[in-house]
Amino acid sequence: MHGEILRDLAYLLASVLFIFGLKGLAHPRSAVRGNLTGALGMLIAVAVTLVAGGVLHWTWIVVGLVVGSVIGTALALRVPMTGMPQMVGLLNGFGGAASFLVAGAELVLKFGGDAHAGPGALQEKIAIAASGLIGSVTLFGSLIAAGKLQELHFSWKGRKIWLSSSLLLPGRHGINALCVVIAVALCVLVVRNPETAAWYWLLVLAAAVLGILITIPIGGADMPVVIALLNSYSGLAATATGFVLSNNVLIIAGSLVGASGLILTSIMCKAMNRSLANVMFATLGPTAGGPTADEVYAGKIKATSAEEIAMLFDGVQRVVIVPGYGLAVSQAQHAVRELATLLEARGVEVLYGIHPVAGRMPGHMNVLLAEADIPYDKLKEMDEINSVLPQTDVAIVVGANDVVNPVARTDPSSPIAGMPIIDVDKARTVVVIKRSLSPGFAGIPNPLFAMDNTLMFFNDGKKAFDELIAAVKES
Ligand code: NDP
Repeated sequence: MHGEILRDLAYLLASVLFIFGLKGLAHPRSAVRGNLTGALGMLIAVAVTLVAGGVLHWTWIVVGLVVGSVIGTALALRVPMTGMPQMVGLLNGFGGAASFLVAGAELVLKFGGDAHAGPGALQEKIAIAASGLIGSVTLFGSLIAAGKLQELHFSWKGRKIWLSSSLLLPGRHGINALCVVIAVALCVLVVRNPETAAWYWLLVLAAAVLGILITIPIGGADMPVVIALLNSYSGLAATATGFVLSNNVLIIAGSLVGASGLILTSIMCKAMNRSLANVMFATLGPTAGGPTADEVYAGKIKATSAEEIAMLFDGVQRVVIVPGYGLAVSQAQHAVRELATLLEARGVEVLYGIHPVAGRMPGHMNVLLAEADIPYDKLKEMDEINSVLPQTDVAIVVGANDVVNPVARTDPSSPIAGMPIIDVDKARTVVVIKRSLSPGFAGIPNPLFAMDNTLMFFNDGKKAFDELIAAVKES
């Protein structure tokens, strides 16, 4: 009895630490502390569960800990910063996998041969079915999402098909509906006949197909929404498994992940000006009908150099820097800060325009700029920066593409149609730093590069800023 009270008190403490950890993660200044607070909560939860759970075979626990730690450490050391979004996507998926495997093991342990084992069995059976369904959708959806973020592609009839595009299969809504019906029917069979484990594994299989089919058509600029949603699913799967195991701390931790994932999903939908239904069931396909890169760019691109840009800075009052995924690839954040410091020393106001879906994961740009100690109050959200861009002398776009593509405003058939963008084209002069005219994640040309007030500085982000710093110092 005393043991149970102590265990529940420890779980309560762990849950409080999770909540304070999440609160800390809400701001870059407190994020590291928040992370450590959450990790401490997790350590307490795991240690107490092991001690109070009466483990029979410690060998398995130790083997699991060692194998998991080795793989986790190797991944953390080897995955480059640009691979973090895929890694986070995979970790969501592993959360789903752990949930449905544990629920499956409980099913076999508790109900193998006895459909009516113990009181409260109905709640447990429902939780097992929910865990199998949501956990498997999460794992397989996340695998596809990670492949999209990794920009994997395959060849079909001599054409390169990128996984990151919106791949629309014919009749997909009908196939999805059929998968849902089959999965629900299998859930009922699991609840009614838990002694037949085969129903459970068939449910996992049907949910796997559903997870793949739901995620495959989502591409282009809608990916942040699907990542946030899968994050939320991994929490819901953990909550269901918490009910299977009657483990309060797992129920609370899963609910926190589920709720925060849903909040993030809603923030991302707002940022894209899309409803969740529109993202999940949209009919936009690959951009076969849009203008080609040649049509958009031919004869209209003006290349520039560091020296020319340094001259542009003479007498300017405000410069706005708009970072995107290329900033993460080139790790240019420290050089960006150095240039900003130089300009500020000459009395120029330097601001940063942060698009909510810039980069490859929510908050990607904020993390990079915070790492370079750029003051947080200089980072302006989209609405705020858009109101000052018409009074801005120079807008520098570094490694951003989709989030500054005016096609979002003008072409309703484009994969980024309706997405609010950072209106850099309204600045007096726009300097775009990227290596080539390659498209961004959504795979479409960007008419910004061909506008009258745009100069292209073709270079790696970091090298470009290093050259700019040297040129400004010389000028
Ligand atoms: P984009 O993917 O649109 O464009 C990135 C650009 O960076 C490319 O055009 C590339 O051009 C350039 N680049 C790559 N490497 C370098 C380098 N070393 N130096 C300089 N430039 C480089 O990025 P955005 O940030 O504008 O938009 C994000 C996109 O990703 C949106 O479509 C968003 O929906 C999607 N997305 C966002 C997620 C999120 O959570 N934030 C998650 C998943 C997808 P080049 O090769 O010519 O250099």
